[in-house]
Amino acid sequence: MKLLEDRIRKEGIVLPHDVLKVDSFLNHQVDPELMFEVGKEFAKLFADKPITKILTVESSGIAPAVMTGLAMHEPVVFARKHKSLTLTDDLYTADVYSYTKQTTNKISIAKRFIEPNDSVLIIDDFLANGQAVEGLLTIIKEANIEVQGIGIVIEKTFQKGRALIEKRQIPLEALAQIASLENGQVQFVK
Ligand code: 5GP
Repeated sequence: MKLLEDRIRKEGIVLPHDVLKVDSFLNHQVDPELMFEVGKEFAKLFADKPITKILTVESSGIAPAVMTGLAMHEPVVFARKHKSLTLTDDLYTADVYSYTKQTTNKISIAKRFIEPNDSVLIIDDFLANGQAVEGLLTIIKEANIEVQGIGIVIEKTFQKGRALIEKRQIPLEALAQIASLENGQVQFVK
């Protein structure tokens, strides 16, 4: 998606450990117009799938997921992050290791927001090593519902997230694919 790539080129800052900072339009300040274009693009890419709900993880997945839900006219549920949980009877939970924060969080979704016939689309801001997506897939499996696809705003193709998802044969679409962040430079996949 050219609009998104242009924005990453203009405003993206490469941090140590292969982290791309895009907090001027996605991870802190949010550009609603750009996110609406992102949402419409996902709606187009997954138009042929029978999707009843969008799932994401708080907090940076919420903006692109809500815009996708708006474009698809479907509800959005975000998994909440907790350090630890004691009462989990009414929740689906999974452990997620955070690449950027280097900590493990539990993510959870209230059982009442997942219905038996749900067929979901996962949306997230970044795909790095695939831990956030794996956590959502654990919850989806536990809830015994279908996953129709995964939409990622920015994929770092040099990390192992895509391989994990392809192994499970789940359709994956990324709107910007970064091949390398070496020497502080953003190189997109050609
Ligand atoms: P994964 O679980 O795929 O390893 O990492 C995905 C999550 O980590 C994303 O939801 C995002 O919050 C965060 N993340 C991973 N890599 C980056 C990055 O380069 N920049 C930013 N801003 N967040 C990242």
